[in-house]
Amino acid sequence: MTAIAENDTLEAAVPAGVYAETVLSVTHYTDHLFRFRMTRPDGFRFRSGEFAMIGLMVDGKPIYRAYSIASPSWDEQLEFFSIKVPDGPLTQHLQRIQPGDKVLMRKKSTGTLVLDALTPGNRLYMFSTGTGIAPFASLIRDPETYEKFEEVILTHTCREVAELKYGIDLVAEIKADEMLSEIVGDKLRLYSTVTRETYPFMGRITDLIENGKLFADLGVPPLDPATDRGMICGSAIMLKDTKALLEKAGMTEGANNKPSEFVIERAFVG
Ligand SMILES: Cc1cc2nc3c(=O)[nH]c(=O)nc-3n(C[C@H](O)[C@H](O)[C@H](O)COP(=O)(O)OP(=O)(O)OC[C@H]3O[C@@H](n4cnc5c(N)ncnc54)[C@H](O)[C@@H]3O)c2cc1C
Repeated sequence: MTAIAENDTLEAAVPAGVYAETVLSVTHYTDHLFRFRMTRPDGFRFRSGEFAMIGLMVDGKPIYRAYSIASPSWDEQLEFFSIKVPDGPLTQHLQRIQPGDKVLMRKKSTGTLVLDALTPGNRLYMFSTGTGIAPFASLIRDPETYEKFEEVILTHTCREVAELKYGIDLVAEIKADEMLSEIVGDKLRLYSTVTRETYPFMGRITDLIENGKLFADLGVPPLDPATDRGMICGSAIMLKDTKALLEKAGMTEGANNKPSEFVIERAFVG
């Protein structure tokens, strides 16, 4: 039985302590990336920027993976931005979901990319690569982000131009939304770069921080622990290299129980 067909009989098989939510829409961006929205369970609370475990029943067993919740905490639906790994145990099936299908979600969310883990500052940088933009898709739609920071700079680096579309569309949607655009004003800036194609802004974000081009392009001063805060989400190497640059600028890493100047979270394991 396929994973999707199996979902028809999912209601009966949903493990205890797990929600089974209905897919509402699916948008495919590239052969490797898609977004989906699903119903939000009654009583499910999370902080913008957190991740949850989502899954599907495959061959009679649930398969779960960590996923950043890409929608903000006030949204009545849940949004996710996903990779499609050709042989990936979960995403080889997840990439085929359609509206009406069921997706499992464990009841607890957690994570370090939350506003509470940062000390007050003026400018918030969100550094992301690939699907690492997902937690920031949540945070840039949360009014609290703009109550706490005067300027929010979201950087998104991908290999190809087509992979930037989710982030670009997101910012356009915020600007077109009557309520959000009033809250966000001109505080939010998106800085998209690619590493393998020609584009107005090119290169790895770590190189662009190191050589100062990021700051020159944005017309802002270099990183300063007195004013700037950071959140980083990407591959293990991207986290390590970006973290080193923030530390070199005098910033220290924080956590939920010890807020500080920047926080990090892996976009995937491996
Ligand atoms: C805290 C956390 C949050 C995450 N949030 C998301 C999210 O919002 N969206 C998302 O698509 N994935 C996210 N992931 C990764 C996710 O948990 C799965 O790994 C992914 O969905 C693939 O699942 P799979 O079972 O198909 O393949 P897996 O067996 O899990 O992965 C196979 C291989 O694919 C590669 N890979 C996995 N995920 C990615 C990715 N996102 N980008 C690039 N390469 C990848 C890795 O090399 C991995 O070894 C997150 C992981 C963690 C730890």
